[in-house]
Amino acid sequence: MNNNKRDYYETLGVGRSSDNQEIKSAYKKLALQYHPDRNPENKDEATEKFKQISEAYSVLADPQKRAMYDRYGHAGVSGNAGAGAWPDFSSTIFSDFEDIFGDLFSFGGVFGRGRGRRGAQRGNDLRYDLEISFEEAAAGLDTKIKIPRWETCSSCGGRGSRKGSAPVACETCGGRGQVRHQQGFFTLTQTCPQCQGMGQAIRDACPACDGEGRVRQERVLSVRIPPGVEDEMRLRVSGEGEAGTHGGPPGDLFVVLRVREHAYFERKGSDIYCDMPISIAQAVLGSEIRVPTLQGQEKLRIPEGTQSSAVFRLRGKGLPSVDGRAQGDLYVQVHVVIPTHLTRDQRRLVEMLGSSMRVENKPLARTPKERVKNNFG
Ligand SMILES: [Zn+2]
Ligand SMILES: [Zn+2]
Repeated sequence: MNNNKRDYYETLGVGRSSDNQEIKSAYKKLALQYHPDRNPENKDEATEKFKQISEAYSVLADPQKRAMYDRYGHAGVSGNAGAGAWPDFSSTIFSDFEDIFGDLFSFGGVFGRGRGRRGAQRGNDLRYDLEISFEEAAAGLDTKIKIPRWETCSSCGGRGSRKGSAPVACETCGGRGQVRHQQGFFTLTQTCPQCQGMGQAIRDACPACDGEGRVRQERVLSVRIPPGVEDEMRLRVSGEGEAGTHGGPPGDLFVVLRVREHAYFERKGSDIYCDMPISIAQAVLGSEIRVPTLQGQEKLRIPEGTQSSAVFRLRGKGLPSVDGRAQGDLYVQVHVVIPTHLTRDQRRLVEMLGSSMRVENKPLARTPKERVKNNFG
């Protein structure tokens, strides 16, 4: 694999006699150019290139490795590492990268390792399922939820050692947080398994958290559900997840909404649909009926000669959109109820009506509109 590897000096575009400063600025220029974050349209290619220049830099910036490379070429610095393995990307080189770029880029994504304080880990995200009524989804609500979670221990501030007792340097790694394994020319750097990268050992554990640095607590949180939310919507409550470890940031809390079905309202987006029965007489003669809305009863005028399945719109009586920019409508579909049990008197009246009011029993012409049966849109 080493045969087709490009010369490190060539990769960085510097001469063999360049000094550290020249190497550093050449690397900086190229790294800014090829960083994957800056090349979203050909990320893979950029990542590959970025790794190559970073590898070259990691060797040439280290006087010892540079000398080995000058003498033995690639074999001098990659040793018996397997194909695709990295040369020594120790914490030194990483702090070097961070010196060069500050917070410009995240290196974790490119090199597959995290940044930040040694051993620090972001806390877990939490999920809380909240069931609310149809009306609550429409109007929004302020509610309190109780969540059990890990929180940073308040007696030791997350350090894990008893008040007044300072942590001591980890014996396994000598406080560096990392251990190195030498394999020929190749050095493998690993997070210290003893202290998980903290570099510290706890001599006298905090009694409140047993040295964990965090404690299990049940916390009551106030959450505001905006009006217009829908079933399965997720609300992110930033930073209210579990505490991070070793000074890492907390995770987020996700409130997943379950909206209960309504007895007679159906929802589509911001609009509400409702079915209302009316009598034959109301349909024929017209009438005023009362229909339910989210804001209470509302009068609806049924005009004379209303057909069954006719739909009436009550503007603005639906739900607001979550962003508050639109307001849905309420659609009321009327259904003419055909009686199935008649008294003797009623039967006589209908018979009278039937003989004076005839309908020609002839098939209706099918218009395209009728083919697509009006079924609530
Ligand atoms: Zn504690
Ligand atoms: Zn250690």
